[in-house]
Amino acid sequence: MTGSPRIVVLAGGVGGSRFVLGVREALRARGVAETTDSITVVVNTGDDLWLSGVRLQPDVDSITYALAGVNDTGRGWGRAGDSERVNHELQQWGAGWPWFTLGDLDLGTHLARTGWLRDGLTPTQVLERMAGRWPLGARLLPMTDAEADTVVDVRDDAGGGIRSMHFQEWWTRHRATLEPVRFDNPGIEDALPAPGVIEAIASADVVLLAPSNPVVSIGPILAVPGVRDAVRTTPAPVVGVSPIIGGRVVRGMADVCLAAIGVETSALAVARHYGARSGDGVLDAWLLAEEDAQVADEVAELGIRSPVAPLWMTDAARSAALAEAALAAAGV
Ligand code: GDP
Ligand code: CA
Repeated sequence: MTGSPRIVVLAGGVGGSRFVLGVREALRARGVAETTDSITVVVNTGDDLWLSGVRLQPDVDSITYALAGVNDTGRGWGRAGDSERVNHELQQWGAGWPWFTLGDLDLGTHLARTGWLRDGLTPTQVLERMAGRWPLGARLLPMTDAEADTVVDVRDDAGGGIRSMHFQEWWTRHRATLEPVRFDNPGIEDALPAPGVIEAIASADVVLLAPSNPVVSIGPILAVPGVRDAVRTTPAPVVGVSPIIGGRVVRGMADVCLAAIGVETSALAVARHYGARSGDGVLDAWLLAEEDAQVADEVAELGIRSPVAPLWMTDAARSAALAEAALAAAGV
């Protein structure tokens, strides 16, 4: 394709931001002029939470900071060169969560966002305003303007029953060590896709599923009523990138999430979980890691094309090559 393809990416935080950086880099390498019309990122907001009176949007911020080049690449979250003075003070007050660090610069983001939400802006409008600060080279949309924070039901060792907690508590405080039995986004049944999401998917030249957590990043996006149907019915090819390399998750604890929904940690099982668009799923193609090339035939038998490429996003060049492979798989 000549000119600038309209690319929609469904994405979570860490895997999502590395991949989106790669897509932007791939377009630059093609000489496509920087326009925010080219790349639309539909971001998971299931990780969002209220803490100490402010609204946090971890995946939205990870992608914004990464595209702006102000992210902390060492830690993998938050702002580069951040300090924790306010966080220390909050802890002295016994406010917030002692195991959840809020950087000072990061808190500036949360305060600005919360103020604008209180002024009556929608999360979509807030994100548009925030994205205006830096030349991101992509349009970011929250999956929905509704609050549908992910809740995890875990088995309670002491009582033998089930207890619920916010996803962030389970992930950050307990490091996903409590056995999850269910993930849910209360209220999502009544949520609307954020303005622009359905239109972007319907008018895309290609829809890409980032190599993000299938359960708690891509899962909530597809669970917003209308999004899954839009992905299933768009004329654009839909290409997913495997977050599994060599039968293992890369960075993070997505395997625990997959186990909870009865999906094995393998590229084949995740492809089956997403399913073929020719059946009742969402994929036309599933980009497999070279380390998983042996399951390519089985993926193809599901009705999903299964090209193979290097899937390690260890630097910008590799992420760009991966994004280029995903675009090539879609024929754009
Ligand atoms: P989170 O919201 O911060 O958890 O990040 P995402 O949901 O966007 O991405 C998490 C997923 O990214 C994990 O399941 C990893 O398997 C996957 N991931 C991380 N780094 C890489 C990489 O270099 N290559 C691929 N293919 N997947 C990766
Ligand atoms: Ca996340």
